[in-house]
Amino acid sequence: MPNKARATLETLYRIFTVPEAPDSTLGSIDHAITDDVAGFLRNHIVAVERPLEEIEASFSSCAIPEEPTYVSDYTEFVKENLVAQSVHTAAPGFVGHMTSALPYFMLPLARLMTALNQNLVKVETSKAFTPMERQVLAMLHHLIYRCPDDFYPPWMHNSQAALGAFCSGGTIANITALWVARNRLFAPEGEFRGIAQEGLARSLRHRGIDGIAVLVSERGHYSLGKAADLLGIGRDHLIRVPINEQNRIDLQALRNECRRLQDRNIRPLALVGIAGTTETGNVDPLGAMADLAAELGCHFHVDAAWGGPTLFSDRHRHLLAGIERADSVTIDAHKQLYVPMGAGMVVFKDPTAVSAIEHHAAYILRHGSKDLGSHTLEGSRPGKALLVHAGLSIIGRKGYELLIDLGIERARTFADLIDRHPDFELTSRPELNILTYRYCPAAVQQRLAEADPDERDRINGLLDQVCQLLQKYQREAGKTFVSRTRLRISRYGGEITVLRSVLANPLTTDEILASVLEEQCEIVRQPEIHALLEQIG
Ligand SMILES: *Cc1c(COP(=O)(O)O)cnc(C)c1O
Repeated sequence: MPNKARATLETLYRIFTVPEAPDSTLGSIDHAITDDVAGFLRNHIVAVERPLEEIEASFSSCAIPEEPTYVSDYTEFVKENLVAQSVHTAAPGFVGHMTSALPYFMLPLARLMTALNQNLVKVETSKAFTPMERQVLAMLHHLIYRCPDDFYPPWMHNSQAALGAFCSGGTIANITALWVARNRLFAPEGEFRGIAQEGLARSLRHRGIDGIAVLVSERGHYSLGKAADLLGIGRDHLIRVPINEQNRIDLQALRNECRRLQDRNIRPLALVGIAGTTETGNVDPLGAMADLAAELGCHFHVDAAWGGPTLFSDRHRHLLAGIERADSVTIDAHKQLYVPMGAGMVVFKDPTAVSAIEHHAAYILRHGSKDLGSHTLEGSRPGKALLVHAGLSIIGRKGYELLIDLGIERARTFADLIDRHPDFELTSRPELNILTYRYCPAAVQQRLAEADPDERDRINGLLDQVCQLLQKYQREAGKTFVSRTRLRISRYGGEITVLRSVLANPLTTDEILASVLEEQCEIVRQPEIHALLEQIG
């Protein structure tokens, strides 16, 4: 072997066996995040934003490095170009998105998970992780459906069943739920071998219908559009039903849409109720939707990706009443279960429902095996369920209850602050822990109340620009962060741009919330925004 090749081989051998010295860059990062991860993030993420184009320059070469290199050289690069320019999602002033701080134990357990490198697709590469994941799904099933204790033993570790499917997030969970619903609607029957074998066109012909549809409110998450696309339903047949003043699905409109579909010989495949809309955190009337789904004989899915953990709270769980009647429920673990990114679940009321999407392969997923991969959309999957199991075991029901209660209380406090401030307008009152608002000075609020529709639209157009710049400048300053979206607000007869705040970080204080508004009042004095406000007149 030539010397050069031998050197490469030796480097590779080292990479697989010898850990970094504690005084190397990686070693010191490792030490720092083990010691005090909050301090590490605070000290190493640079708050002030650089233009993305500038950052892209560090990631512009398409050449794969030819030779192995020293780990510490690479880690220097990571520290400077990646860590420094990442987003401090754990900061208590970061109240704009659904990503927040993590309990400290998640980090060492995530490292343990990586070290073990289990693959949950099959028992042969995961052993105890398979029953552990099945237990996690049962715990969530119990949280939602509250079946008696003796319901679970026959199903939990049963090779013929699964109480749900663990996956990488809410999107895959929603797709899986509708996949099951679709395959159950077109189940094998007589000569017909089912949609999984024969495809959609033959399935529609078999049933004598011209299409299938999914109905959800205007506030439905965009993942449902992907599901409609992938499952052959078609995005045109994802029916977005109007909402009422409380951002909840309008039941009369829902009934009307169902009737219209039936007139066109299109069959409702599923109604989707939302427990915690992504933009405003509202909950649909789940009980009434369950009634309608039963009447139509269609699948009832609840997208509780965000709001599901509200069920931990004795005080607030009533908001989700009716969820226990859903055929399937999505819950994201990387949101309000405080698990690192990449963990979601869909739970099925009927533990045999997943047989509709069962698939087998000769070398794994054999018939009768307990392999979780036989009814998941994803193939190889990490042992993320460990982190959910850890959260549920360590934080416990009462711990999560406190987190939920605190978040809802803080959202109400923030809403009060906004209400009392003359220059802000609350655009959606928090039902859970999400609210929207905008900067709208008292005098302008007065003008809007008296304006005719044309004048109203002109003013709102200018306020939209104010809102957009305000949110951008605040993000760039890097002290605090809220997100923005566009919502149709009925009193304005159209869509307006609003700021959105998600209150899920237990370290966010009332003082921080007050400082978010103070900073916004400062920012609007900047010339560019001031000029827009002047134009309102
Ligand atoms: C976040 C969210 C999703 C999508 O989940 P991902 O984990 O981002 O894939 C779906 N529905 C709702 C209501 C959500 O809040």
